[in-house]
Amino acid sequence: MPYFDHNATTPLAPVARAAWLKAADDLWHNPSSPTRAGARARLHLETCREKLALVLGGKKEDYLFTSGATEAARALFSHLAATLPPDRPVAINPTEHPCVLEAAGAAFPGRLLLLPLSPEGIVTPDAVASAFAAGAAAVAVMAANNETGVLQPWPEIAALCHQARLPFLCDASQWLGKLPGGGLGNAGWVFASAHKFGGPKGVGFLKIPPEGTDRFTIQPGGTQENGRRGGTEDLPSIAACCAALVEAEQKYVFLESDRLRWREAFERDLLTACPGASVIAASADRLWNTVSFCPSREENTRWVARLDQLGFQVSTGSACATGQPGPSHVLAALRLDPLAARRVIRISSGWETSEADWHALRDAFLATHARFATESPVSPVITP
Ligand code: PLP
Repeated sequence: MPYFDHNATTPLAPVARAAWLKAADDLWHNPSSPTRAGARARLHLETCREKLALVLGGKKEDYLFTSGATEAARALFSHLAATLPPDRPVAINPTEHPCVLEAAGAAFPGRLLLLPLSPEGIVTPDAVASAFAAGAAAVAVMAANNETGVLQPWPEIAALCHQARLPFLCDASQWLGKLPGGGLGNAGWVFASAHKFGGPKGVGFLKIPPEGTDRFTIQPGGTQENGRRGGTEDLPSIAACCAALVEAEQKYVFLESDRLRWREAFERDLLTACPGASVIAASADRLWNTVSFCPSREENTRWVARLDQLGFQVSTGSACATGQPGPSHVLAALRLDPLAARRVIRISSGWETSEADWHALRDAFLATHARFATESPVSPVITP
């Protein structure tokens, strides 16, 4: 069954599954044990860390394994709140994932400076420079948006923050495994979740900057992760996370242009056949896998249910926001009309998605569109 909700989570990659099983079978000892078996597990853990540094850049010691992006975001904003000047704001992209927005809000109550966006949802380097002028003490901008796929100019923003000697925080959860990760390891505070790129759920990592982080800890309670995160490491999941990332980097990320062509053809076909429909942030550089499609009629929940019946899994938006009332904060930040926002459907493919899958999804969309039109020739009025 074609799966088009990869931005929510991806299926476990075979290479990740194999790495998980091998570590669970052969390296189950505690990496902190003073035995030779413990040392073997420890060595494997350090090899995994080394893999991250090779793919993303930076020193291996600065990579910490976490349970995912949410934990990393929470820990690093708490750290910044404890170490940055108490009166200065933190500049943040308003389309960040809720795990970043809520961690930032909790750590810096009343001190968040929302960065202005271009009409497509992009934070420009000029917007960052104006945040510096307004006294921002740190900047948080994600690499790629989970709802619209919009790519942010993170290399330029990281360079500006570096020049200004201010912390830059980058949620790379949707970028990694889809686009080359080189350079992210030197961007500042960077974090991601393995299940977005073919790894298991409940594991991810945080790259900390090489300087000024002596006091940074995620949780006390042990000497693991250089004393920064107490608790016995989940070596099988860590091994699977790194195997998935390395495979994506070595085998897949170069196939981006083909995949982009398939997504663009899908968008063109839908826009031609469905008058009044639109693609959110259509003219921005976006992830090759993501379409945020706004049809001219029916709430997105109806579309998702109908497409599911036809065998296609798409989404109403970010998985964590599903079930929450009101339009997504991302679409609100893009100033999309709230009624239109309730129609928006997120479609996100994966490396295993074929061109034929895109064609089949297009046909299912067109069939659903035609069926809605026969069921009620006049589009129902959605009340806010
Ligand atoms: N950041 C982005 C951009 C995401 O898409 C997600 C997951 O939806 C997260 C962070 C949170 O990841 P996790 O739930 O694995 O911590």
